[in-house]
Amino acid sequence: MDLPVERWAAYARRRWASLEPCLQRKLALAVPLRDTFLLCLPLFQAAEEEFLHRLAARNWVGKDPRAALFYKEEGNKSFHKEEYTAALRLYSKAVSHNSPEMSLCYANRSAALFHLGHFEDCLEDIDRAEAQGYPNRLQPKILLRKTECLLLLGRLEEAAGVISKVESKIAMDQSLTSTTRQILLRKISQLKVKAHEKESSPELVPEALSKTQKDLEFWEENGKISSAFSSVSLNFNSCRGRHLVATKDILPGESLVKEEAFVSVLSPGKSLLLQESAETTWDSRVTNGDLHCHRCLKRLLASVPCRGCSYAKYCSKKCAQLAWEHYHSTECPLGALLLTLGVFSHVALRTVLVAGFAEVSSLVKQFHGDDKELHKAEARGKSQDETRDSTADMEGLSEKAEPLIRDCEDDGQYRGSYQAVFNLLTHAEKHSPEHKFLCSLSIVAICKKLQEADLTILSQGSCESQSRLKAHVLTSAELSPELQILGEAMLRHMLQLHCNAQAVTSIRESESGASVVTESEQVRLATALFPVTSLLNHSCDPNTSVTFSGTVVTVRASQPIPRGQEIVHCYGPHRCRMGAAERRQRLLCQYFFECRCQACLDELGSNVTGTAATGDIFCCSSCHASMQGEDVLRCSSGACTLLVGRDYLLRQLWDLQLQVQTALGLLKDKQPNQAVELLMRCRLDAENFLSAEHMLVGKIEDHLAQGYATLGKWQEAARHLRCSIQIVEARHGPSSVETGHELFKLAQILFNGFAVSEALCTIQRAETVLSVHCGPQNAQVQELQEMRACLLELPRSLLHRVE
Ligand SMILES: [Zn+2]
Ligand SMILES: [Zn+2]
Ligand SMILES: [Zn+2]
Ligand SMILES: [Zn+2]
Repeated sequence: MDLPVERWAAYARRRWASLEPCLQRKLALAVPLRDTFLLCLPLFQAAEEEFLHRLAARNWVGKDPRAALFYKEEGNKSFHKEEYTAALRLYSKAVSHNSPEMSLCYANRSAALFHLGHFEDCLEDIDRAEAQGYPNRLQPKILLRKTECLLLLGRLEEAAGVISKVESKIAMDQSLTSTTRQILLRKISQLKVKAHEKESSPELVPEALSKTQKDLEFWEENGKISSAFSSVSLNFNSCRGRHLVATKDILPGESLVKEEAFVSVLSPGKSLLLQESAETTWDSRVTNGDLHCHRCLKRLLASVPCRGCSYAKYCSKKCAQLAWEHYHSTECPLGALLLTLGVFSHVALRTVLVAGFAEVSSLVKQFHGDDKELHKAEARGKSQDETRDSTADMEGLSEKAEPLIRDCEDDGQYRGSYQAVFNLLTHAEKHSPEHKFLCSLSIVAICKKLQEADLTILSQGSCESQSRLKAHVLTSAELSPELQILGEAMLRHMLQLHCNAQAVTSIRESESGASVVTESEQVRLATALFPVTSLLNHSCDPNTSVTFSGTVVTVRASQPIPRGQEIVHCYGPHRCRMGAAERRQRLLCQYFFECRCQACLDELGSNVTGTAATGDIFCCSSCHASMQGEDVLRCSSGACTLLVGRDYLLRQLWDLQLQVQTALGLLKDKQPNQAVELLMRCRLDAENFLSAEHMLVGKIEDHLAQGYATLGKWQEAARHLRCSIQIVEARHGPSSVETGHELFKLAQILFNGFAVSEALCTIQRAETVLSVHCGPQNAQVQELQEMRACLLELPRSLLHRVE
């Protein structure tokens, strides 16, 4: 998903295959990235440009007044169906395209915000509508909405001011029909009554809205590593590379690293609504870009569109401005190309824009200097690569094989600076030549586009550098020396991302609001570089948990870590999700190392073969014992002689998964009865051939709980959820974050079903588990605390109700 689109990748593969063998050899050997980049430069010609241009046309991100009209009308449809969240998203899409009707779009969006109870945002949109020239004849309507908002926010004086403004407007307006006038006047008198009531009984306006979620966690910063706590230190040895170690006994839940991303780019992501209407040119589906701020990743409500494109949307004017100053003014005209070349290319570009030309140029030049030294050393004898490969194990080994810890700045500090980013490993020699070629060609494409554009922006990333990039008169095959430097740096970053990219994720709750029980899924929001967090090595059985808040990552201990133990996190292949063989295969492919974590050593030692994680096994349809074997599986019970082909079982599993998907669709379509019916059938089917601990069985139980909860059948819901929790616990452990999420759901169900004492118990467990992994400020943890407070306030009679 982060790599260039497949059609461009395929083009690059064909191009690679057509190269002269001697050029191929040269490219395959070119170790300094500068050489790779310069060799690829002349290979990007008119044909390549033309091909990319055509591909990029599909991702067009310009502004089109017709699109604005389309989205506005779609928004109106949703609004009339009282689907205000959907309407809000569609109006936001409408305002991202300029049109003469901008003011109406903002006004309509303010109405949706009003219905959703976001009064402050509603007021902002009313101001925007007015600033965009909202038609005079409609003014009374919008001013009355403004009055209502102000009243609801307790701003009585302002409300009174607006009311008299409306009154004079109505009095002056000759075009109003008498009925309209009557309606407006009645509305005004209603509002005046409301205002009077407010005045006579001034309730305290809850200031809770301004949830200044200050981080109360004790923060003792590390003297040596920025963004890390003093409980960790940076170590180096030849087999683990750079790594972090506990300097004291650490308790579960303690924060170890809290780091702001050096750079992050929002993933365009897959569309969230799959109702593609073939007739329309405009896509009304909602994507990551519609839901999160392009810069800070905050969840969007009333988004502020980019001035130049319809793609970038921001949470505030300030974010829009900062993004524009730091990188987006350069990126904006490249929007479609960047979407085609993928997130990695985009991160590579943004990294150099954020760092600024002066910084990039100085590090690239310094690196060239080091490079010459290296070549001299190589000429003297032992190649650096050999020394590295003989000991290389984990990411983080010194590229220059220095005895000292690399990348620390002159004062011995490791900072999350551009220097640290620049020095992350590229593993340039381990990537396939085809992959390097694709990356190089993509970066050349960006450089060519930058050359066409006005490059004064490139100097804005850093304050010191005022160096304007002179637009030399160059032939199309050439690049200015400045762009050659940037190109080389970008290629470096693109290769680094292969091993160092961190997916920024977030738990997204369903927007439908139909279900009482939170239906949430983990989604990938962005791809980012965190130079300090990158110091952590991998383990398939990690001792930390990683959570994100916007562009900030927090690494917490998920279990007690004794002093001296290495701090590790999981790069993806987790012990609970796949078997050792598959994990090691994946790690070798993507991260170029053979995992020797304890979980891998244990599993390989115990000779457990197969790729499934424990628990995901087939079982005998007649006696329920487990089935064993490779292509043909045999019942493990001696008395039974059943034989089944693996293919047959896999097909059955596939069918069942499809059924469960269908049931989930029914749940989303608000047909809980049908969903429950189908899920009950799925459960019977599953019992026939899956072990009771199989994850799919757990999923079915979880969905059943959700279905019953939607129907208000709390006891059934709780019963099924307990089954799901058992399976999740067996798989991930009772204190895992996965179990925490399930406990949270159970707490919601018990809370809604007034099963007070059990709810309190479950709330306690869920809170303990979740705050270890996600910290005390986590939204779910806070909600649990609110639930508890609410239950404790109930009258005693309810507390002792028989359930
Ligand atoms: Zn923002
Ligand atoms: Zn833009
Ligand atoms: Zn492992
Ligand atoms: Zn059997």
